[in-house]
Amino acid sequence: MSVKLKGIAASNGISIATAYVLTEPNLKFDRISNANCKNEKLRFSKALEKSKQDLALIKKHAEENMGEEEAQVFEAHIAILNDPEFIGTIENEIDNDKVNSEQALSDVSNKFISIFEAMDDNEYMKGRAADVRDVCKRVLSHLLGVSLPTPSLIDKESIIVSHDLTPSDTAQLNKNYVKGFITDIGGRTSHSAIMSRTLEIPAVVGSEDATSKIKNGDTVIIDGINGMAIVNPNEDDVEKFQKAKRQFENRLKEWAKLKDAPSLSLNGEQFTIGANIGTPDDVKSVIDNGGEAVGLMRSEFLYMDSNELPTEDEQFEAYKKVVSGMNGKQVVIRTMDIGGDKHLPYLPLPEEMNPFLGYRAIRISLDRQEIFRTQLRALIRASEFGKLAIMFPMIATVDEFKQAKKIFEEEKSKLIEQMVPVGANIEVGMMMEIPAAAMIADKLAKYVDFFSIGTNDLIQYSFAADRGNERVSYLYQPYNPSLLRLIKNTIKYAHKEGKWVGMCGEMAGDQVAVPILMGMGLDEFSMSATSILQTRSLMRKLDTKKLSELANSALNAETNDDVIKLVKEFTQHNK
Ligand code: PEP
Ligand code: MG
Repeated sequence: MSVKLKGIAASNGISIATAYVLTEPNLKFDRISNANCKNEKLRFSKALEKSKQDLALIKKHAEENMGEEEAQVFEAHIAILNDPEFIGTIENEIDNDKVNSEQALSDVSNKFISIFEAMDDNEYMKGRAADVRDVCKRVLSHLLGVSLPTPSLIDKESIIVSHDLTPSDTAQLNKNYVKGFITDIGGRTSHSAIMSRTLEIPAVVGSEDATSKIKNGDTVIIDGINGMAIVNPNEDDVEKFQKAKRQFENRLKEWAKLKDAPSLSLNGEQFTIGANIGTPDDVKSVIDNGGEAVGLMRSEFLYMDSNELPTEDEQFEAYKKVVSGMNGKQVVIRTMDIGGDKHLPYLPLPEEMNPFLGYRAIRISLDRQEIFRTQLRALIRASEFGKLAIMFPMIATVDEFKQAKKIFEEEKSKLIEQMVPVGANIEVGMMMEIPAAAMIADKLAKYVDFFSIGTNDLIQYSFAADRGNERVSYLYQPYNPSLLRLIKNTIKYAHKEGKWVGMCGEMAGDQVAVPILMGMGLDEFSMSATSILQTRSLMRKLDTKKLSELANSALNAETNDDVIKLVKEFTQHNK
């Protein structure tokens, strides 16, 4: 019998494939203290061989899908399994203590992990601790005969089903085989949802119980437009699914005709529609979807794709690739926004009660200035190859912006002194994603070159509702007049100072919000590349003179739903 699941629509598109359930394997075992050493060493060496075979295959897939550099982490894992010291210590423990290999493996791994983690000032060695942990898990799974789900090894069309997906899990998905995913938890603006849009993989998040309702091998339809899934669909469901898929594809064809058209309103007002990207490889999709700019490059993905802090040169190459790939069109790169739900295994952050309210983004950059300065130098050097703008995430106060800007100026002057070529006009702006900052937009506007409104965070901080928690997702209210007023305040004061305002939060591509934002005079809309053409199509049907009235009514409405109603009525009257 078919089962329907509801969730949050995270990435457009509809697909059908076989479920691949990602669950944490049970790796519990008992200690044996009178083991047969010969047998144990034989079991251990077999598990070791199987693990090496797995890793060679994972590495090959990673090289094919993500490139050699990203695959190096698996080379490091293989090296651990070939390390005579590591293996020898485990075998000695089996011999000396007569314990089972599971026990010896985990004792020795834990010893190595603690040694590496204790090297406080050595980020590289801390990264090795994570490697040992991963490798130990793999060998243990073979010893226990438990299968370890490995999404990067998927080689047939599948729908991933999991409790949650981390951004790095998502980055490993091969879109040739992964046709969609569904998770129990998460919201539309959690980073795995954002990445699914970049990868153009249909996704539903926050379904609450997908992992208990779906089994490996079930057939699953993912409807990422309406936020639902059907498990083991009947003929009727499949027919409906095929019809919806055809309709969606026809709409895509219509929108594709606007690839080279300007982003003009019906009455000829010019806007810019840009894209949000994570890595240099995403530039292709921006161009293919008719993007007029990169409104946000989340530079932290560069850090997350690496096993250690990327060097200045590595970063320079990546930024240069984006800036030159956009061929003179503006590229806004945000400095590292680590913390919250984004972690670096080699840069452990203190445990915090509220990571989204804690040590995050610009707060880390201003504290760990060596990391910040390296990034700024790489960015400034890349500015020579196109039109680069830099912005700082999570600015809360005028002082924070001034401090960050001062460090930027210092690094720029040093590079100029060293005769390094730098671009003529690097704009420096900030993300507007903290309500306190939006309230003093008039003050901040004097110092910045531009604002880019990050509604994903601005909404979570305004409503005190975790953006990734499906239980409070009803408070994700982009049209609520309180939020619209913060946005209006930002635009009004930026314009007063002659500065431009963009929006790179998910709201910029939201078809209900776009008419209101146009009416408020937002200059640049930056979104998932796949939303660009749909938004351009909508913009071209709207008259901004009428939209400013709509925006005023929205600002004076009472609730989120009232505003949705206003926009619906407006669209009906202006068809
Ligand atoms: C935002 O907060 O709206 C934003 C664009 O940044 P991120 O989603 O990466 O936090
Ligand atoms: Mg943000």
